[in-house]
Amino acid sequence: MTTTTAGATTTAGVKIVALAGGIGGARFLRGLQAVAPQAEITVIGNTGDDIELFGLQISPDLDTVMYTLGNGIHEEQGWGRRDETFVVKEELASYGVQPQWFGLGDRDIATHIVRTQMRNAGYPLSQVTAALCARWNPGVNLLPMTDDRVETHVEIEDEGGRRFIHFQEWWIKFRASTPALRIVPINAESAKPAPGVIDAIKNADVILFPPSNPVVSIGTILAIPGIKRALLASQAPLVGVSPIVGGSPVRGMADACLASIDVQSSAWGVAQHYGARPHGGLLHGWLVDDIDKDCALDGLRVLARPLIMRDLESSKDIAAAALELARSLS
Ligand code: GDP
Ligand code: CA
Repeated sequence: MTTTTAGATTTAGVKIVALAGGIGGARFLRGLQAVAPQAEITVIGNTGDDIELFGLQISPDLDTVMYTLGNGIHEEQGWGRRDETFVVKEELASYGVQPQWFGLGDRDIATHIVRTQMRNAGYPLSQVTAALCARWNPGVNLLPMTDDRVETHVEIEDEGGRRFIHFQEWWIKFRASTPALRIVPINAESAKPAPGVIDAIKNADVILFPPSNPVVSIGTILAIPGIKRALLASQAPLVGVSPIVGGSPVRGMADACLASIDVQSSAWGVAQHYGARPHGGLLHGWLVDDIDKDCALDGLRVLARPLIMRDLESSKDIAAAALELARSLS
């Protein structure tokens, strides 16, 4: 891997593995593809957000990555399809069908019908994802973290008492306003990595953590013991990109998730949470925003750059910096 004077990176044949949630992961990956068009990129996607609603199997983070890289995403929203309509949602509401806090657009529903039909016919999620990607051509090998059912649940306490609800209900219906007492990726402990996941990690030249949610995106993937073990066993440089800029998550409510595991909402807090490799942690390198340039952790190589993904150009610069940091470590 070499950097040209124009800042583009020559990555022919380089194998990159990235873990990813939804919007933060997808936007970073779009930049990565643009700066490393010849690299072989495998994405291990979070499926802890998956939920069955209206009889349909929903995999929000896999779809966000697939639609974003396949040029079908609703740009401003960061999830769902562009040019979307919501006729079915309105019709369901007219019947009083619950829940009404989750919006599936009409175009998006077709994706979910395909997924659900294939799952009901016995195909594992990894094969379903490959079939959906055959239409979208995301240009990466998109793998679910596991074919087993893992669901992130959140323990809350309010006037309804102390109880667990699905992560989606906490995130979308409650807007994470009720404090999470615990966030638990149900069944992750016994989940097996999906086919291809461990091989991709073993063969990787570079491993990246995009600026995805450290708790409910990256954290859920790491909760699968086989995946975490493989990452720790890998010799490839592992570089993370901070999802926290100047103390706050750029989009979304990651701070509410970090609070539930007592991790400070800062670039340093998240780095400390992932840990530095020489001290048994995961990270070799950590890319932080310029505003967090003083972030330092023993055993960790830190690089500071602007980390707000406004458009493709800024995502490319961030991805190029992550690769530059990885190269300096290998
Ligand atoms: P989700 O599954 O759709 O919530 O998406 P991810 O887990 O992939 O990413 C969400 C995280 O991305 C949030 O916690 C934010 O902190 C982070 N994020 C979003 N936009 C940006 C950005 O422009 N720059 C950085 N550094 N982080 C971002
Ligand atoms: Ca998500």
